Amino acid sequence: MTTESSPFDGIPLEQAVADAFAADGWLAHATQQFHERSGQQAMARAVARAILSRRPLVVEAGTGVGKTFSYLVPTLLSGERALISTATKTLQDQLYGRDIPMLVEAMGLPARLALLKGRASYLCLHRMELARHDDALQDAFMQRALARVERWSHSTRRGDLAELEGLDERSPIIPLVTSTRENCLGSDCEHYKACHVNLARREAMAADVVVINHHLFFADLAVRESGVAELLPSVSVAVFDEAHQLNETGVQFLGRQLGSRQLLDLAHDVLAAGLQRARGLVDWQLMAASLDRAARELRLAVGRQYPDAKLRWQGTSPDDVDAQAWETALAAVHAACGLAEEGLATVEEMAPDFVKLLERAQQMTAHCEHFMGLPSPEYVRWVEVGSQQIRLKEAPLDIAETVKRRMLGVQPAGDASAAPANDAVGDDDFDPPWQDEAESAWLAGDRQAAEGVQPHVQCALIFTSATLGADARLSWFTEPCGLQDADILQVESPFDYARQAALYVPRHLPRPQDPSHSAAIAHVAAEGARRLQGRTLVLTTTLRALRTIGDVLAQALGEQLEVLVQGQASKRSLIERFRQGDQDGQQRGCVLVASTSFWEGVDVPGDALQLVVIDKLPFPPPNDPLVEARSKRLEAQGRSSFADYSLPEAAVALKQGAGRLIRRETDRGILVIGDTRLVNMGYGRRLLASLPPMRVLGGPADYQAALEALTRASTTDCPDPG
Ligand code: SF4
Repeated sequence: MTTESSPFDGIPLEQAVADAFAADGWLAHATQQFHERSGQQAMARAVARAILSRRPLVVEAGTGVGKTFSYLVPTLLSGERALISTATKTLQDQLYGRDIPMLVEAMGLPARLALLKGRASYLCLHRMELARHDDALQDAFMQRALARVERWSHSTRRGDLAELEGLDERSPIIPLVTSTRENCLGSDCEHYKACHVNLARREAMAADVVVINHHLFFADLAVRESGVAELLPSVSVAVFDEAHQLNETGVQFLGRQLGSRQLLDLAHDVLAAGLQRARGLVDWQLMAASLDRAARELRLAVGRQYPDAKLRWQGTSPDDVDAQAWETALAAVHAACGLAEEGLATVEEMAPDFVKLLERAQQMTAHCEHFMGLPSPEYVRWVEVGSQQIRLKEAPLDIAETVKRRMLGVQPAGDASAAPANDAVGDDDFDPPWQDEAESAWLAGDRQAAEGVQPHVQCALIFTSATLGADARLSWFTEPCGLQDADILQVESPFDYARQAALYVPRHLPRPQDPSHSAAIAHVAAEGARRLQGRTLVLTTTLRALRTIGDVLAQALGEQLEVLVQGQASKRSLIERFRQGDQDGQQRGCVLVASTSFWEGVDVPGDALQLVVIDKLPFPPPNDPLVEARSKRLEAQGRSSFADYSLPEAAVALKQGAGRLIRRETDRGILVIGDTRLVNMGYGRRLLASLPPMRVLGGPADYQAALEALTRASTTDCPDPG
């Protein structure tokens, strides 16, 4: 923290934490919402101990515990430099914009805060200038969008594109006015001093508390794997909220990827820079056309596949793909990248853009060569096929080794190179903005690694989420994250689930594999939604079920209620509309039908949501290459892939889905799970035990009575639905 003194100087941390959370402590005076909660105090004490002992701590804190304050208060009181990482930008913004400033002010602390997002969140002044002179930017919509960005660029200080109201996150203008690690010119850039990415980075370097997200964190770790920079060694406390997403996010970034989109982007950037800065010196059209054609032929080589198909790839070509056609297409990509390398090398010295373009072409050649060989052991390889695009991917099965080596400082016995040096992959929009080693104030701790010495991690690592597992050791989270030796704390939700919520498993439904199952679920949901005037969220396990259930509900309820289906609008607008429901009397009540990404992160407190319907038990899809590889590894270890992987995955996902129902102490509602395996199969008991302790409704009559109770009064009157 800064050298200014804090009002808590001299008070032992555990004492300061206990004082803060006491019934008449300063938190009670600072915020009206505060009330004393034993779970919150227990978690805060555990976090304080972890900070003092530097032992890793994993805390599962049920909904309503108030876990954000439980880790923020001890972290801020400790006076240590801290990193806080979240899974979503929403929580990142909430912490930086609301929770931390409120606490810092209430505590009178001299802490400096910073928010750091990925590169794709910040305007790149250089790329904006390139776009302005881009002959290919003929489209009127794109020109209008660019003009809007340019007008805003004169007034913004942070250059965070989130400031541009109404700009769709998927807008095609964004890649043209933001940078990636590959195309950023770094200190060769004429805008280097005014650069928004650098400004955000400098602020982070000077701050006491930095809020980032997991994508950024792993992108940085991945780059460090290549011997560049890392953030962790310079902080003393690192908190990972929404930690249940850590493994899947890390896996995305710690592997390797080559996509047709990247090839097309290179073709576009080569042509734009070539024509602007070295027209006539190289045949830029030929170079771009060859990259473009190679990208398209790579996609065509996999033939017609279901959209979003993932093709297993264990040999030299992916399953169900003609090996000869695949090898020819990859060879064409290799040749096109090679041609680009040759041409760019001849003009490299004319402009920094050409240096970066050459590096990109070289990196793609290297990726291509890697994918022309067999997969690395311990890694899984597959191909993702979209309607237009294709991505070649290779990833570790989990992040355990990386966490142990890079965060816990544990060296794998006898092998310093257990994990191959990989390149960061994943969404470009979370590329790390701190890869420049020259900015070494922030990266001071990195020198040991740069010199080949493993860092001894002196950082308290705290991982937390509402859902981290279904057993006492939270194995679902700790095993893949390499945290089996961490201290574990489970804090129960303070909600009275038996009184606030009821669970109903309809026995009359067809088996989940039956083709009529989705329609039957839709009828159950329609009946409930009619009674409740909407207020119903249907969570499906597949996109096919999403479409069927959405169609049946629209037909059955379309005239009375508004049926919102995932994909009709952005997640944020769908949830916003659902929250409003018929509250203002002007609009109809809502039913929302959604799949995977809505099983978590949907927070609709109050009586806008009273019924959650889950179509099936959310087992991981067995034909997913990553799932299959993880299952095989367990079987090879003599373990059961069903008991040790599929079942815990389903339990955690079910707990997350069920967690949408009760968000406050005054909420009331019913959870319907449309899968009779929950009551007919032996493993159902294990899954039921993972759910919050709701009352179980015995049959249709109980269910009708519970619905009736919900219709009698709003949740503010707290009726018991049964
Ligand atoms: S330094 Fe990189 S990100 Fe910043 S303006 Fe230049 S190219 Fe863009």
